[in-house]
This record gives sequence, structure tokens and C-alpha cells, in this order.
Amino acid sequence: MRVFAACCPACREVAARPATRCDAPRLPRRGMLAGALALAAAPFAPAAATPAAVAEVLGSGPRRIAIRRVQTGESLSGIYWRDGRYDRELLRQLDWLMRDPSLGEATPMDPRLFDVMATVQKVLGSEEAWHVISGYRAPETNALRARQSRRVSRVSLHMSGMAADVMLPGQSSLGIARIAAELQLGGVGLYRRDGFIHLDCGPARRW
Ligand SMILES: [Zn+2]
Repeated sequence: MRVFAACCPACREVAARPATRCDAPRLPRRGMLAGALALAAAPFAPAAATPAAVAEVLGSGPRRIAIRRVQTGESLSGIYWRDGRYDRELLRQLDWLMRDPSLGEATPMDPRLFDVMATVQKVLGSEEAWHVISGYRAPETNALRARQSRRVSRVSLHMSGMAADVMLPGQSSLGIARIAAELQLGGVGLYRRDGFIHLDCGPARRW
């Protein structure tokens, strides 16, 4: 398995502005079981406000996402949005797939992160699975990385389930970053040397 020494600095200035965070329902970080039970009652969640660019690119049809976790080798592919609503069951599975693998700890991911990923992928014309290097990052993990590298912010959208560090087979990190930045759906960080990009569903910005 390839080891990624670097990870993204992840949005110190954004995390300090709560009003700009995604408005999807948040659950306590360690409340996955209670959250899963609550979600089980209603299979489809109301759609959060969607940026116009997402609707313009993805249209009104079902939205599919395919993800492979680099660390665990786990994969998941499915329709996460249909008829104007997010599929709660698939989101629950995605929450676990996007967990912090070092602690085995998950959080409810902001579903608009998957909108960002699906939109970028559609524009790229790719049908490959995203390779996710880092999704949710527990505060303990982030603090450890921040101590190891000055590039890592102590406050990160990864800790809010709003960010992912990703690669897409057959696509250069530069090409993905260019498209993502043009779409202005959130944060875009290019880590060209390491071959991945950071995507998030916070305010549009790039580094
Ligand atoms: Zn990141």
C-alpha cells in the first residue's frame, strides 16, 4: 500500500466561520449508532440546498457514486440521490466507508460532498471509482498529523465530514483540480507531488 506522507492543510479559515458550513443535519461525532437508528426510520432524507452547478451538470436523474478506500480496500457503488432526495441507507454505508480507518470511527458525512465528487466526475467523463485516501478524520488523528507536519491545520473540514482527499484512475490530479476549481462547488486543494486532490463542500476556494 502506498503511504501518503502529506495530507491537506484543510481549511482553517473556513472552519472558524460556522455560518458557512453545510446545512445538512449534523449528529454527534460518536453518535453513529443512535444516528443510524434515527435514519433507519426514513429511507430518503430531504435534499439539502444544491448549488445550481450540481443540478445543471447532474440533471434531475439518479446520482451515482463509486468509492474505493485506499487503506482498507473496501468499495461501494450505488445511487445516493434519487427524485430530489438523498438515500439515507446508502449515505449510512458511505459514512462507514469514509470513516477514520486508524480509529474505526465514523461520522455522518455531509452528502453535498458526494454531489461535488459526482459533478466533477461527470464533467471529466469518468466512470471510475474515486480512490479515497482520507475522508472523515477524527480529532485525535488530525491532532497527531498536525504535530507531525506543519502543513496540517489543527481545524479541518475532514473533522466535520465535509472533505475528502481523492484520486481518480486515468485522471491527473492537475486535471481534476482544474475542473473542480472551475465549477466552484467548494474547496479544492492540489497535492500534485502526492498525486491527490482535496475536495470539500465548504465555500469555494483553492490552494
Ligand atoms: Zn483534505
